[in-house]
Amino acid sequence: LLDADGSVRSTIFAEMSNLATRTGAINLGQGFPDYDGPAEVLDAARAAISAGANQYPPATGIPALRTAIAEHQQRFYGIGLDPDREVLVTAGATEAIAATVLALVDEGDEVLTFEPFYDEYGAVIDLARGTHTTVPLRRPDFQPDHDDLRAAVTDRTRLILVNDPHNPTGATFSRETLALLVELAHEHDAIIVTDEVYEHLVYDGTIHTPISTLPGARERTVTISSAGKTFNTTGWKIGWITAPPAILQAIIAVKQFLTYVNGAPFQPAIALGLRLPDEVFTGIAAELQSKRDVLANGLTAAGFTITKPKAGYFIVADAAPLGFDDGAELCRTLPELAGVVAVPISAFCHPELAGEYRSLVRFAFCKRLDVLERASAQLSALR
Ligand code: PMP
Ligand code: GLN
Repeated sequence: LLDADGSVRSTIFAEMSNLATRTGAINLGQGFPDYDGPAEVLDAARAAISAGANQYPPATGIPALRTAIAEHQQRFYGIGLDPDREVLVTAGATEAIAATVLALVDEGDEVLTFEPFYDEYGAVIDLARGTHTTVPLRRPDFQPDHDDLRAAVTDRTRLILVNDPHNPTGATFSRETLALLVELAHEHDAIIVTDEVYEHLVYDGTIHTPISTLPGARERTVTISSAGKTFNTTGWKIGWITAPPAILQAIIAVKQFLTYVNGAPFQPAIALGLRLPDEVFTGIAAELQSKRDVLANGLTAAGFTITKPKAGYFIVADAAPLGFDDGAELCRTLPELAGVVAVPISAFCHPELAGEYRSLVRFAFCKRLDVLERASAQLSALR
């Protein structure tokens, strides 16, 4: 986790947000909204502080939130969970992922992820001294090849770490791919860990299918999500894990020494959020879909080739048609060229694979429409 000169390596997201602050450029790099989520949720946090919810909450999360998480899984996916034995509240999905990998991976165990991968995955696999293997997502629609998958899962594979919907590509996996993952996990006795933080941010009628709902998946799947994306509260750091009791116990053992507990006044607020009517959830997705369309049009008009994402916060754009072969270099100069900050896809890849994705850049569209329109206009200067 250190650079070659011994300095602490900051995440690509922090680096790019610093670049935006330093240059005054529009920040389409780090994925966080520049607008608030449902007012009821914000009000509930204020009320909880006033009501004195300011000390350590219970170790696994307050009962009201664990129950709301179980009810949410039942309402949207038909998954029945015991809130006392199968639900754990965490400090965002970030801690959920770290605690899961640290709990389940021993030195040398293989952890398979797709590539490009969310940067934390590589870091925590290293912290656990695991071995990180990957299967590439193939352009243009960023799907994995099934033969690649069959070859990548072996008896050394301890975890198959899925991210569906996917950051940075916005791809969602087909039922066939999910079924193959379950089959391979059974064949090689691997545990599936699924990061579904973008579960509600799906567009064009896409339906999110949690892998744990597939036959035979539930007993070997750890499902992770977070309130940050759904309710525009990325700074509250309320996430959760649902998993079979024995696996969850191992994860709780680690979580208690990472943060012990987290976010006392935010927990009742998120419990209220998870119980809001279906229309609130579909409304959040519909709003983001129109933002996606504005940025997609802007990037296309500016000369990028894009794959329109079905989910998530981001559009991956190819800068090669504009004459930029190196996305990392483009991102360093983009504030100067167009007053915009983005993130290179190479930051989500091992060096060998980065070649294939060299000219790709990620833009966030979880921003106000006027910001997206201004960014689009400025990007047209690249032509
Ligand atoms: N997983 C993915 C795929 C993400 O994109 C993010 C954050 N953007 C996280 C995990 C972390 O979630 P949290 O902010 O809840 O820690
Ligand atoms: N997940 C967000 C992104 O992909 C950022 C989270 C972070 O900064 N760690 O941009």
